[in-house]
Amino acid sequence: MNTRFCPKCGSEKGPFVKGFCMECFLKDHDLVQIDEEIELERCVKCEKINLKGVWKENSVENIEEWVGKKVKIKEITDEKITVILDPEEEHTNAKVIISGELGGEPIRLEKEIKIKFKDTQCADCAKLSGDYYEAIIQMRFDGEMKEEKADEFEAMLAQILGERHKSDGLAIVVKAIPQKTGADFLIGSKRAAKNAAEKIAKKFNTKVVSSYTLIGVDKTGKEKIRHTHCVRVK
Ligand SMILES: [Zn+2]
Ligand SMILES: [Zn+2]
Repeated sequence: MNTRFCPKCGSEKGPFVKGFCMECFLKDHDLVQIDEEIELERCVKCEKINLKGVWKENSVENIEEWVGKKVKIKEITDEKITVILDPEEEHTNAKVIISGELGGEPIRLEKEIKIKFKDTQCADCAKLSGDYYEAIIQMRFDGEMKEEKADEFEAMLAQILGERHKSDGLAIVVKAIPQKTGADFLIGSKRAAKNAAEKIAKKFNTKVVSSYTLIGVDKTGKEKIRHTHCVRVK
């Protein structure tokens, strides 16, 4: 009777892969490649993370997906990659589990890696830190300002921008400047400003009067425009 054994360690315990026992085969072959420590840029202001050049929400799902795409696999077929994050203070440890088949045998491998966060500023926050704003919402009262309505206006503006902030990092009030009969709200994002002005006007049963001013020309020769949306509260 022919007994199968591993030419390297002599083990008779299967399964065998290309003639060797699984253990010896894995020792000699680097089937799963991923750096033990990977760096991830994180915004110190809004906590968003830089995933391949796109600033996204700092969520477990986003990080796990990003780590999973960094794993390179050889020889394993029907592979399934699972990433499980184990958050700690400075670092985040992640377990990468690869399952599939190797030479017709089921296989499951695990790797522990570290994600090192690098503090930086995302593109939007860098802009906003320089008092950047694309639009102005003007809250105006005919005659005297009514405190209660002004508060309602401001709360609604904060709520609308807050809802958009996850997908549009510029959707914030950069500055609020009191005026004689209202206030000017400088808004980072022109799209968010337009949307907010329209919603607020609808709520107050009034109209938005929009205009724009040319504020300069950028490096490519494109005109830079600042939008102003005036909402008259009756
Ligand atoms: Zn062996
Ligand atoms: Zn940011």
